[in-house]
Amino acid sequence: MQRIADLAEAAYPGEACGLLLGFHRAEGDIEVTRVAESKNMASSGRNDRFEIDPELRFNLMRELRGTGYVIVGHYHSHPNGLAQPSATDLAMVYEPELVWLITAVVGGKAVKSTAHLLSPGGTYFDDIGLDYLPAADTT
Ligand SMILES: [Zn+2]
Repeated sequence: MQRIADLAEAAYPGEACGLLLGFHRAEGDIEVTRVAESKNMASSGRNDRFEIDPELRFNLMRELRGTGYVIVGHYHSHPNGLAQPSATDLAMVYEPELVWLITAVVGGKAVKSTAHLLSPGGTYFDDIGLDYLPAADTT
């Protein structure tokens, strides 16, 4: 979460985005173990769109093959916006199994993050909550 906050602040007033890597736990939780920063491929001059670099994704999928780790979702920031999915976000859901993590950045400071999954009917996002696990290795 700290890394995402740092990336979201660094991109401000632009929009940061990237992929979340990890695995699905047996009890249904999703654990994120790595953050992969992406260039925002959305057309320049806007701060309300994001598009993850397809080459980054392709390379990660190849790297993760057979490891048990997968792409579990993605993150993006809302510069001077809310930590809630926008109507544009809802319109952009092509892969309903992926988690959407959204970080609001206000005045250059990351203020709040939330995580969402598309509802079963696909008409809205469910806030799925975030738990912060202690880092396994802080050295
Ligand atoms: Zn958004």
